[in-house]
Amino acid sequence: MVSTEFELSVGLEVHAELLTLSKMFCGCPNEFGGEPNTRVCPVCLGLPGSLPVINRQAVEHVLKTALALNCSIAMRSMFHRKNYFYPDLPKGYQISQYEETNPIGYRGWIEIPLADGATKTVRIRRVHLEEDTGKLMHLPGGGSGVDFNRAGVPLMEIVTDFPPDVKSAEEARSYLQELRLILLYLGVCDGRMEQGSFRCEPNISIAPPGAETLGTKVELKNLGSFKAVALGIEYERSRMESALARGETLHQETRGWDESAEISYPMRRKEGESDYRYFTDPDLPPLAFDEETIERVRASLPELPGEKRRRYRESLGLGEYDANLLVADPEWAAYFDEAVSAGGDAKLVCNWMNSDFARLLNESGQRPRTSKVTPERLAELVGLIQADQITGKIAKEVFDTMFATGDAPGKIVSEKGLSQIADAGELAAIVADVLSANPDAVEKYKSGKAGVLGFLVGQVMQKTRGRANPQVVNNLLVEKLTE
Ligand SMILES: [Zn+2]
Repeated sequence: MVSTEFELSVGLEVHAELLTLSKMFCGCPNEFGGEPNTRVCPVCLGLPGSLPVINRQAVEHVLKTALALNCSIAMRSMFHRKNYFYPDLPKGYQISQYEETNPIGYRGWIEIPLADGATKTVRIRRVHLEEDTGKLMHLPGGGSGVDFNRAGVPLMEIVTDFPPDVKSAEEARSYLQELRLILLYLGVCDGRMEQGSFRCEPNISIAPPGAETLGTKVELKNLGSFKAVALGIEYERSRMESALARGETLHQETRGWDESAEISYPMRRKEGESDYRYFTDPDLPPLAFDEETIERVRASLPELPGEKRRRYRESLGLGEYDANLLVADPEWAAYFDEAVSAGGDAKLVCNWMNSDFARLLNESGQRPRTSKVTPERLAELVGLIQADQITGKIAKEVFDTMFATGDAPGKIVSEKGLSQIADAGELAAIVADVLSANPDAVEKYKSGKAGVLGFLVGQVMQKTRGRANPQVVNNLLVEKLTE
């Protein structure tokens, strides 16, 4: 049900686990999965007398992200204790960062691509550093257990600004995809939604357009994919609209998403904000940044997805579809950049990558970097086509061989005798043969049916196994037929 009576608003809270070697405040390895409770120590278990030490790499990851999201940076940033009781929280509090301008980054923005090719600015309220909790799990023999392997893993929280800029399920999806891609380009998070290293909790409300205040918020949890995010938001919108149409009152609550049934279910009611009794962590010194560090990190930022798409379109002349396809995968985009710097024509390289190369990689389950085709070899192949040394048809054969063997295209061409025949003298004899073998076609051409020329060109190509230069063949045929 799509109604025009209400306007949808979506605030988005993202938790991203940071790619570091060790946990946030101890030396335990930061890895996914594993035997429960094998990566724990007195610090991440919160045993009395243990003292936390700040992970510098995690701080730098958040600083990098905050700068990439155009945030202001807090020159002095504190850690706070967020106190609450839950079995997955060994210390009885979570170390986080509270207050408006205390998070490492605050008041930023990103541009997200929209379906119609335009972009929209989404404001970011905060980017802060905290630690992940453990995981509750049902035991096979009944009852529940807690795995603390994840407890203390560095976690970055990114929250959009208020009132929300995101006004539809599609915009929410685009925002999350763009944000995830930025984190991948920065190398700060692996973005695996299915493993929970990139998690999103939207808060959703509807209100009449132009209303002074937003409607009652519902927070949605357990969204394991971008598809689930979009479906969940749409589901909530229509559930709330129907409830209001029946004259019911909405409650502020947290709901879970059932992925298989594609419905949400109530988890808990919220009666106002919880009181977490935040206070500054007495065991941790404040983070202090200086201009020099900030500028060093800013200068180290890679080219981000938005800039990359723009460069591909404006400087390299790629279409929007092709540019998006390349940028959507950092490894793919880096491969493309290398092939172009090796001298490959951008449009031709892109065409080969998004067609034959992508198909062969899919079929063989390889990644571009693990395949035998290097960016330099692809550039070389494209160069042979441009220099008229091989035809487009032969190039496909060369590419298949190159993919299988890793040989240089020039070597394949000379070994297999695949080079193009563009010499008119050499082709004239074959053209003459084709004409004498096809008197009917010659008659048709002479009686004005010019379309038959394509058939004759095809005959010559067949005789040369695709090696003849089609333009030279074309010219020769016309010459002979109009003699
Ligand atoms: Zn530990």
